Parts: sequence; C-alpha cells; structure tokens
Amino acid sequence: MVLYKADLRDIYFNLFDFLNLPTLYPQFNDQDIRSIIEEFNKFMSQEVWPTREMADKAGVHINNGVVTVPTCFHELNQKFCENGWFKLGYPEEIGGIWVPYAVSIACTSLLNGANASYSIFIELTHGAMNIILKFGTPQMKEQWISPMMEGQFGGTMCLTEPGAGSDVGALSTMATPRSDGKYQIKGTKLFISAGDNDLYKNIVHLVLARTPGAPKGTKGISLFMVPKFSYDGQSNDVVCNKIEEKMGIHGSPTCELVFGGNDNCVGEIIGQECEGMAQMFVMMNEVRLFCGVQGESQANLAYMLSESYARERIQFGKPIIDLPDVKRMLLKMRSKARGLRALNLYIGSLFDRKHLGEITEAEIALLTPISKAYSTDEGFNVCVEACQVHGGYGYIKDYAVEQFVRDAKIATIYEGTNGIQAMDFLTRKVLKDQAKILNELFLKIHIAIKKAQPYGWHKELALLSLSIAKTKDILNFYEKSKTSKMDAVLGTAVDFLNYISRIVLAWLLLEQASLAKEKLGLIRDADGEYLESKITDYLFYSHQDLALNAGLFHSICVFGEDYSKIIV
Ligand SMILES: Cc1cc2nc3c(=O)[nH]c(=O)nc-3n(C[C@H](O)[C@H](O)[C@H](O)COP(=O)(O)OP(=O)(O)OC[C@H]3O[C@@H](n4cnc5c(N)ncnc54)[C@H](O)[C@@H]3O)c2cc1C
Repeated sequence: MVLYKADLRDIYFNLFDFLNLPTLYPQFNDQDIRSIIEEFNKFMSQEVWPTREMADKAGVHINNGVVTVPTCFHELNQKFCENGWFKLGYPEEIGGIWVPYAVSIACTSLLNGANASYSIFIELTHGAMNIILKFGTPQMKEQWISPMMEGQFGGTMCLTEPGAGSDVGALSTMATPRSDGKYQIKGTKLFISAGDNDLYKNIVHLVLARTPGAPKGTKGISLFMVPKFSYDGQSNDVVCNKIEEKMGIHGSPTCELVFGGNDNCVGEIIGQECEGMAQMFVMMNEVRLFCGVQGESQANLAYMLSESYARERIQFGKPIIDLPDVKRMLLKMRSKARGLRALNLYIGSLFDRKHLGEITEAEIALLTPISKAYSTDEGFNVCVEACQVHGGYGYIKDYAVEQFVRDAKIATIYEGTNGIQAMDFLTRKVLKDQAKILNELFLKIHIAIKKAQPYGWHKELALLSLSIAKTKDILNFYEKSKTSKMDAVLGTAVDFLNYISRIVLAWLLLEQASLAKEKLGLIRDADGEYLESKITDYLFYSHQDLALNAGLFHSICVFGEDYSKIIV
C-alpha cells in the first residue's frame, strides 16, 4: 500500500499565519489546534487510509433488500466515533467537542482525502443533524440527536427523483396529513447516498415532498423527517429497491428508496408546509462546501503522492521530478491544490466570524458556488494530472492514484451540478445585487495588491488588477444583453464562474506569498524552502491559470457569440 501523506505545514500556515485563528478564539492557542489536527491526522494515517483501497475493492451489496457496506467500515466507524471525531465541531451542550469551524474544515479535508466514500456517511449525518438542530422540534432533538452523535444512527438528504434531478421543483413525492399531526409519505427517491446500509441501526432521512394542494414548483415543497425505523423500533415502510453500480466512491451505497410502498410510511414535518427548500438549502450549502473540500482534499493528497513518486522514479538517469515537463505538472498541481485549500479554509474562517457576529453571510454565499464548482472541477483535473505524472503506473491500481480520479468526479455532479452552480453564481450572487458583494471582495484584493507592490511581482500584480478591471466590462456586457439574450448570458455562466474563481485563487495565493516574503525577510531557517514554495505557487498560478482569463474575456465579451441559437 502506498504511504499516506498530509501537508500539515501548509494547513498550519493557513490557520495560524494567514487566518490568525487563535486571535478569533483566544480560548484556543496554536498548540491546542495543532494537537487536535495532529491526532486526527494520525487516525487518518493508521485507521482511515488503509480502508480506502479495501472498500473500493469490496464495494457495497444488496441481498434480499439488505444493503451491506465494506466490512472494514464497521470497525472504522466504531473507532471514529469512540475517539470522539464525529463530535468535532459541535457544542458541548449537545455532547460535542467544540472547535473553530476552520479547524473542522481542515479535519474534514484530511478525512475526505484519506477515504472519500467513508467520509460521505459522516458528512451526511452531520448535515441531517444540523437541520434537526436548527429547525426541529424539541422532541425531535431529544430523540434523534444523541444516537446520531454517538454514531448509532446515520442521516441522508432525499431530493432527487427519477423525473426531478436539477429540476428539484418537479418532484412528486407526496406527504398527506394524518389526524395525529404527522404525514403519510409516498414516493420514490433516486441516487440517495448512504440511503440504506448496515453501518447504522437506524437512518434518519430528510425528505422533500409535496403536500396536497401545495403550489407547483419549489414553492410547494416541504421538508420531512422520515426514519427507517420509528423511534420505538418499528419498520417505517422505507425500502431500498436497488443500489447503483458506479464509477467511484465504491464504499458508499447510492440507493433507490421507495417510501410508503405499503402506504405505511410516516414522517414528521420540519418547520412549516412549503418552507422545505429554504430549510434544505441550509443542508445543501454545507454539503456544497463539503463537495468543494472533497475536490480540494483529493487534489492535495494526489499531489503529495505524485511528488513522492516523481522523486523516486528514475528515467534517463535522473529522478523524473527533475524533468521540465514533470516539474511543470507538479507545480501546476501544487499551486492549484494549495490554492483550493486556502479557499476552503478561508470560507471556514468566514463561518467562524459569522458565528462571532463579526460579519453577515453575504461573502460566504458569494464564495459557496465557487468552492463547490471550481474546487471540484480543478480538484478532478489535478487528480487526472496525478495519473499523468505516474505514467503507466498511474493508470493501473498499484499506486492508488486512479482511484482519486474515479472518486473525485462525482463532486462535480451532485449537490447541484457545476453548471447549476455557475448559473446560481452569475444570476443570484452577482447580477441580482449589481455585483455589490463581488465588488466588496475586489476592494480586499486591491488592498492585497497594493501591499505587495514592494515585493516586485509587477507583471503578476498587473495581471490580477487587469482581470478585476475587465470584470466590469463583462458585467456591462451582461447588463446590455440580459433582457434580449438571457440564454446567451447563461451560456457563459461557467466561463464567468471560472474567470472569477481564478481571481479569487490568485488573490489568496498572493496574500500567502506576501506573508511568506515577510517571514523570509525576518529569518532564514529550515522553513525557508516551504516559504519559497508559497511564493512559487502564487507566481506559477498567475502565469499558468490567471493568465487564461484573457482568453475567457475574449470568449465572453469580444466574440460575444450567442450559442443558444445554434442547433446542436
Ligand atoms: C453517486 C451519486 C450520489 C448522489 N447522492 C444524492 C443524495 O444523497 N441525495 C439526492 O437527493 N441526490 C443525490 N444524487 C443526485 C444528484 O444530486 C443529481 O444526479 C444531480 O443533481 C443532477 O441531476 P440529474 O442526474 O437528474 O441530471 P440532470 O438534471 O438531468 O442534468 C443533466 C445535465 O443537464 C444540465 N442541466 C440541467 N438543468 C439545467 C438548466 N436549467 N440549465 C443548464 N443546464 C442544466 C446539468 O448541469 C447536467 O449537465 C446523487 C447522484 C449520484 C450519481
């Protein structure tokens, strides 16, 4: 088995040097946070990573309606929960172990890198718990939170139906009121992650359904808590019809679930009728960030393994890491993967600052589709590059990298495809408020550019300023086109999201390069090589990725082609 690796140095640089986490929470010092992450990472290396390939080979099975997960997950889940790792990030009042949000994101990333299919169980249960905590009745919290917290019960989110994928508003599962205030649930849900399994004694499904007479579309959708077994242990008529054969995440069962096939499935409403989409968005936004972390984590680990391999593999009498094209691939992988880490940890710190009442969630909302779409697209690309660095050994299974490609791809599709994220970003996060929040972000970037002037990266800083300035032209172009050619505008949404994502990543890498430069000016110690690498990341990303924005600008504005009229 290939040795597990993690770049804790870079995680600490983000949390302490860049985000200054202990100044937000004086109750945590650097050492407290390091100890948590080091212990968590030890568990990843010793317990989680060894199950990754095993679970990929074993897969999930269904026999007489019973869904089984890889055997190794049972012991792993027990140890994970006994060690208290499931409780990380939750308040002590409900039995949790509270840590700053950015620290839980760092740990989630390590978990996801070590085994993407196992981490799906954890994140979905976290997501379901969060909804019950936020919107559930006191009785729901009393009954369901504790067994979820102890790792006895799992959670799912059930949106998708055969006729309702991206178009969630088309769903047809029905929830009919009963005389006891509960609802009778009837319908079929498709592609439900962890929808059935033998890892948990019970599964708490959060189901979107429609009540009789509710308005059409998303406005008529309500949210229900529908357990696999009722609280007193009776079957609740939720049946797994089939599990999907799929490209990756083989340890995670993707289930078709029939609710109320025998008219005997009972659910409780969460909140009020027709409020379901707003509540589910709380879970979806978290899970979208989790998707971003999925892309970033796979990319970072794939880079670490590729870098080790390239040092050892000899061709033409030298390690391949010394060959120019291999070096280019590795630098491209590292600058992107670390940039994505910086993005997701930065968003984590925004959650912390929101929790402390310092900011609203406007910037989080702006950056969530960027995290979801750009981290997963580019994370996947980094995984593909990892195969290339390994040559033929990257295509076969021995070096563990082809699994990254198979496991990472799904994150570009679920939780709203990246195309849907791009439309959400362009229309709801940028055009709707005349780019107010985006422009506020640009102000921060201008400050970083000004601060970096003494460091002499003139061409790179000018490139970043130019990309920002040209955004104004793109937005003017959209403003002019949107009434008569909205389809044409939407056709460029993915380009626009990529354009802004590159500005954001270049900015975060610039901030970190500036910090590294300051530190290098103060002392030259063993850390010098790492600090130099942070500067290289920024310069390389500017030359290879940010530079592509010039082409995208042309594609969107200068050619300004309306492809929506072309017949495919
Ligand atoms: C392994 C796996 C796990 C999953 N887990 C869950 C889960 O736990 N819970 C759950 O509810 N669902 C889950 N899903 C479902 C997943 O969220 C959907 O597959 C996804 O939202 C896309 O829906 P769809 O497959 O119907 O594709 P479609 O909606 O048919 O989309 C097909 C293509 O059309 C594009 N498209 C669709 N509408 C538009 C539009 N208006 N404008 C532009 N482009 C558009 C899409 O971007 C995509 O490229 C899972 C799926 C898989 C494969």
